[in-house]
Amino acid sequence: MEKINVITLGCSKNTVDSEHLMARLAAVGYTIQADSDRTDAKTVVINTCGFIGDAKQESIEMILRAVEAKNAGKIDRLFVIGCLSERYADELRKEIPEVDDYFGARTWDGIIAALGAKEGAEFNTERFLTTPSHYAYLKISEGCNWMCGYCAIPLIRGRHISVPMEELEEEARKLAAKGVKELILIAQDLTEYGRDLYGKRMLAELLRRLCRIEGIAWIRLHYAYPAAFPEEVIEVMATEPKICKYLDIPFQHISDNQLKAMLRRHTKAEAVALIEKLRARIPDLTLRTTMLVGYPGETEADFEELCDFVREVRFERLGVFPYSEEEGTHSAEKLTDDVPEEIKQERVDRLMALQQRIAAELNRERVGRTERVVVDRREGDYYICRSQYDSPEVDQEILVDAAAKRLFKGRFYEVKITDAEDYDLYGEVISSK
Ligand code: SF4
Repeated sequence: MEKINVITLGCSKNTVDSEHLMARLAAVGYTIQADSDRTDAKTVVINTCGFIGDAKQESIEMILRAVEAKNAGKIDRLFVIGCLSERYADELRKEIPEVDDYFGARTWDGIIAALGAKEGAEFNTERFLTTPSHYAYLKISEGCNWMCGYCAIPLIRGRHISVPMEELEEEARKLAAKGVKELILIAQDLTEYGRDLYGKRMLAELLRRLCRIEGIAWIRLHYAYPAAFPEEVIEVMATEPKICKYLDIPFQHISDNQLKAMLRRHTKAEAVALIEKLRARIPDLTLRTTMLVGYPGETEADFEELCDFVREVRFERLGVFPYSEEEGTHSAEKLTDDVPEEIKQERVDRLMALQQRIAAELNRERVGRTERVVVDRREGDYYICRSQYDSPEVDQEILVDAAAKRLFKGRFYEVKITDAEDYDLYGEVISSK
């Protein structure tokens, strides 16, 4: 069978979707490529992102590059899937008719049929890994019911749908059998897992079951919604050694005016209480969060309140995004984008500068500690490693001198942290286990 190139843009949820599709393609004999630079495949599938302006632009540029290659006779068939075509298929069909067909992000039947890929639910747990073989994402649900004022995801991905627990266990076992040691759980909101299928939230139960899978050493949690955070999940995180002392929990803002305007279902007091509870129960916890500044109606006082919150909480990991209006969202339809772009950017810069100082201080506090790390890759004179406090592709890394000792990718080592920079650490191996 011919070669097919599946190009994935956007978030880790898209990565998992593409890996499921690639497994079905490999099962019928396609040779799989997953590379946005190489075009020696006669069939190309682009899994797009349609979340915000920049991401949409990147997807359109990738489609146009592929159309150029098709017009030059380098590609025979070109398909577009994912969030951008879920949202704009009709417009795209009119504006870029050279694409053989457009398919959405919610159902895969169309693209599977178009490519003659392997059908059937029994294939739901198969993955063709594109991440380094020692870690993999596990998407436990799709869609979201929260409807935050600025967010287009519920419009694209629909309502929250959990993947059955048995399927996730089987998928995780197969990943472990492929050598995966770190499972990164992803969703739009992890905490809602199970409510639709089992009538109650079941993330804690799922975590306990995944912890029992042999070969899995680390389980990491990404994308938790702060409102009514399940107590039992805190308990499992505090007691199960395989669960990384790490939680990605986007707060977006902290002033009650802004939280209300963003339709976030929690207050400042509830957010502060949750952080205190998490840190009290899981002392060594690394909190990752994202903040959204420049949302309609954000005053300088709101922003100052956010800066005070960040100063007090001292998040280990923090990203900041300027608000951009997304059509079809509550804020686009009901609110005025009244914060000037230069003020939005100035607030992003001020908050990131504050966070950089905090990150540097927290990193200096890690010097002298011994941490268990996994080796991700070799880069020049260093092995690039991570501890349980660092998520791949988004967080900082630990650099270990490659001349000192030969290390192996995907293996764990005890490393003493010897030096720190604002966003990276240096260490030396003291034992391999
Ligand atoms: S919880 Fe996240 S995915 Fe869901 S609507 Fe809010 S921002 Fe969007």
